[in-house]
Amino acid sequence: MTSNDDHDTTVPDDDRDPIAGLLDRLGGDATLVRRTAFTRLRATAAPVDVATLAAECDLTLHEVETALSDLVSAGAITRSPAGAVVAVGGLSVVPARHHLRLDGQQYWTWCAFDGIGIPAALEVDAVVETRCPTCGRALVVPRRGRSPTRGQPGRRMAARRTLRERAGRLLPEANLFCDATHLAAWGSTGDHEGAPASLVELTDTGKATWADIT
Ligand SMILES: [Zn+2]
Repeated sequence: MTSNDDHDTTVPDDDRDPIAGLLDRLGGDATLVRRTAFTRLRATAAPVDVATLAAECDLTLHEVETALSDLVSAGAITRSPAGAVVAVGGLSVVPARHHLRLDGQQYWTWCAFDGIGIPAALEVDAVVETRCPTCGRALVVPRRGRSPTRGQPGRRMAARRTLRERAGRLLPEANLFCDATHLAAWGSTGDHEGAPASLVELTDTGKATWADIT
């Protein structure tokens, strides 16, 4: 897609990745466990259990549990009722709002920004499937390698970042919209603060956001 000419605003720096700041305070085990869990989810598209993480990180089960607890509190991962890691950094192997196909494997993402940013950082082909929050229309965004594919003819897409509560924290979430009109309509209702951004802008931000995990 092209930039939204009428709302050519970028995502503010301080809104880009609050998790990154949290991880800096969590220590090395949490960073290692997060990266390892992401790599496993990416490789298998299946939940990752604690024993696997302990073996791959060369940590004890207790050390992994402590790291996972910190990561859950930070909103950086989610776990199944059985304790397995099912989502890391927005990449989920259990159903969520946005669907993401990466190299033929099925995932979901916490927000549309994850669906754009993760493939950008991985530099892989992907297809994001989501719905415009304003009208419910299905939106399919194919991506190839590092370059965002332009929106389908006759429609432009834009994203608006807002804050959603997850694990007791307000974290940024983005949605994709049919066009600037639907973006503006949604932004005028409810508590939807945030900056409009184009897919190109989200791609650039995403590459920086996931650089430490991919
Ligand atoms: Zn729409």
